[in-house]
Amino acid sequence: MDLSQPVVVASQNPDKIAEIESVLADLGVQISKGHEWPEVEETEDTLVGNALLKARTVVGHTGLPAIADDTGLEVDALSGAPGVHTARYAGPDARYEDNVAKLLQELGEETNRNARFRTVVAMVTPDGYELTVEGVLEGSIAHERRGVGGFGYDPVFLVGDATLAEVDIAAKQEISHRARALRALHNALSNT
Ligand code: IMP
Repeated sequence: MDLSQPVVVASQNPDKIAEIESVLADLGVQISKGHEWPEVEETEDTLVGNALLKARTVVGHTGLPAIADDTGLEVDALSGAPGVHTARYAGPDARYEDNVAKLLQELGEETNRNARFRTVVAMVTPDGYELTVEGVLEGSIAHERRGVGGFGYDPVFLVGDATLAEVDIAAKQEISHRARALRALHNALSNT
């Protein structure tokens, strides 16, 4: 892959942009900012499909390489749900607390509470090169919310005895699915 061109990070979320930028900076890849593109509806039925869809859209609008990500929570006892529907599990306008409430309700007293976060990161270039990598964080779903940090499903996602809302942000960023996917991206790009 040609890493001499600047890359666009296909996200509007400042925290994600910062995480991805730090990986790219480490590789000496320039970041191109200030671009606009229409909101991408996540219509694919896989995380890989949606991450590629977002990256391809940005390439189409900017003519530059782009990186996009998509994350899902997979719960074994719910056959992998919410999966690709993680952001909108409780409906199109669901807030984080609505999604968590639905998850706890669906699981009820189920004893198999194994779950994982999976992040797919896609990189697409204007000459048609496409790369996807992923990062996984294994854990389980608590019976009730615990902790005040983090976002999304963090208050009910247990890694060992603590939920992600109970650990400090540096500890979470060290082990997170997103961090692992970005390390995989770093490895893949270092080897091109
Ligand atoms: P996205 O693809 O990164 O926007 O993630 C989709 C959804 O997954 C978000 O709306 C959150 O509900 C959830 N999510 C993603 N990453 C995390 C995390 O690190 N902790 C808790 N929830 C997350």
